[in-house]
Amino acid sequence: MNADLHCHSTISDGWLDPAAVVRRAYANGVTMLALTDHDEVAGVDEAAAVAAECGLSLVPGVEISVSFLGDTVHIVGLGIDHRDPRLVAGLARVRAGRDARAVRMSEALAAVGIRGALEGARRFARNPELISRAHFARYIVETGLMPDVSTVFRHYLATGKPGYVEHEWASLEDAVGWIRAAGGIAVLAHPARCRYSEREMEQLLDRFVACGGEGIEVVSGSHTDAEVQRFATVARRRGLLASRASDFHGEQESPVDLGACPELPPDLVPIWSRLTAYDRACGNHP
Ligand code: AMP
Ligand code: MN
Ligand code: MN
Ligand code: MN
Repeated sequence: MNADLHCHSTISDGWLDPAAVVRRAYANGVTMLALTDHDEVAGVDEAAAVAAECGLSLVPGVEISVSFLGDTVHIVGLGIDHRDPRLVAGLARVRAGRDARAVRMSEALAAVGIRGALEGARRFARNPELISRAHFARYIVETGLMPDVSTVFRHYLATGKPGYVEHEWASLEDAVGWIRAAGGIAVLAHPARCRYSEREMEQLLDRFVACGGEGIEVVSGSHTDAEVQRFATVARRRGLLASRASDFHGEQESPVDLGACPELPPDLVPIWSRLTAYDRACGNHP
């Protein structure tokens, strides 16, 4: 089993369209893939069709943006019915805020001398409903001001930097509730990227579990070995299902390719033990 349960396509801020994501995953030896675009499920049908041709299990997924304790948390939903009306309506509401936020980001960037950011970012956003900070970062790299996307984030787009604007995303309870209403499993994404104190992280985990969250990305493309160990301990202590996820966006931006993450610590309960049953129920399994 090579499971990769978090990645992006051009439906959000990935570089490859859904079909190309699946083909690349297959070529890399992935046997179970979840496409988890930000706040949007429009790529799932195309990904599932190509996955069926390749004989790869495609888990319908999404990565929902959530506001919690003054910061942003990402909650991945796996094994969702991506047509569930409650989920679809919830995601549409989350996406709707992105345009106004992009206008404010562009104004904030103009105030520090970066012109044309809204139009520039829009050119990189293949889905006009889904403009992300990553698209702004790509535009700023294109202008020649900064060498790469991660440098842009450090100088302009990370929390507290000049191009960062506050934004209210979904509540934790709503995001987990939509995923569960759609029959999915809610997973705390790349927990080491949260900027919380230990106490705040415990509060997040308390609330996440209390509202029905069941999984955590122990292995993530953005986790160091020490962070894997830290969240393996959390998974054991809280009885959470463990996920393995590259969070691949594209060759030029992602440190870890599709399917190339380390293995999960062997004593953890892998989340795909639940997803295999889901897959069979959908008739996806050979
Ligand atoms: P948004 O949902 O619009 O706030 O954008 C979040 C996205 O920006 C993430 O999913 C990543 O694709 C990208 N991102 C966030 N932080 C960084 C970073 N430090 N370096 C590179 N990309 C980042
Ligand atoms: Mn992204
Ligand atoms: Mn994320
Ligand atoms: Mn992601």
